Amino acid sequence: MKPKSHVIGLAAGGLILIAAAVAQNRDAAKTASNGGAEHAPIGYTDTPVIPGQKWRVHDINRPRPRKVTPGAQPGQPPSDAIVLFDGKNSSHWVEMGKRENAGKAMPVSWKVENGYMECVPQHGDIATKEKFGDMQLHVEWASPVEIQGESQNRGNSGILLMSRYEIQVLDSWNNKTYADGQAGAIYGWWPPLVNAARKPGEWQTYDIMFEAPRFANGQLQKPPYVTVIHNGVLLHHHQEIGGPMAHRIVRSFEPHEAEEPLMLQNHNTKVRYRNIWARKLTPYDSSNSE
Ligand code: MG
Repeated sequence: MKPKSHVIGLAAGGLILIAAAVAQNRDAAKTASNGGAEHAPIGYTDTPVIPGQKWRVHDINRPRPRKVTPGAQPGQPPSDAIVLFDGKNSSHWVEMGKRENAGKAMPVSWKVENGYMECVPQHGDIATKEKFGDMQLHVEWASPVEIQGESQNRGNSGILLMSRYEIQVLDSWNNKTYADGQAGAIYGWWPPLVNAARKPGEWQTYDIMFEAPRFANGQLQKPPYVTVIHNGVLLHHHQEIGGPMAHRIVRSFEPHEAEEPLMLQNHNTKVRYRNIWARKLTPYDSSNSE
């Protein structure tokens, strides 16, 4: 049993803590524009600083995040999204020229009809006119209904982040191929955690959160990271990407711009795309909304 004086000491200590909390609430409430002790405080000025941050716990001065109006239905673009393809035209894109047009940006020749854009075999990859670094990306795609070929020849395309880091698009419905090349793989680096593929012809979603690499003085300072959700199923969780996409080799990072175009790969199969939108990501505490 504890000595009585200790119990009294604890009780007294508790009272002091409660009194301090009441005073703190009162002080914070005073700083709120709505005033009055019966109102909930909108922040504090006397709380401890959060370790590793410049802000106090519940800091009244911490920037409040700006408002974003979500899409009316899941999958629809929120108010701050850049809509890259809305089913009507490919005006946000250019096609990478081939052969005599290599290195040139050409008008897009992929087929646009019935609300989707379909890859035309033997034509070029397409790239956005807009450039992106850290981003959230929503893409819907469908493999050709008619199954042709096998392994990497079946419904192959790809989401090339910054035109070089590929999240694989492939018909992975009963289609055996190497693990780091199936649908949702960080191509050549990491297989998806699971195979969440739908059947050929069915619309599938990718929701991709991407952190661009950082370079300084020609050296990699921070590698890229990616989170990928396929049809609502997590495939990668803040996974480090080891380098650019390559086939049968390991490619090292080469310094590039902080923002680069997003690219869709033409792998000579009639993969379809629709409802493509992106959000440029901003860091914590960079908003200043009232
Ligand atoms: Mg591919």
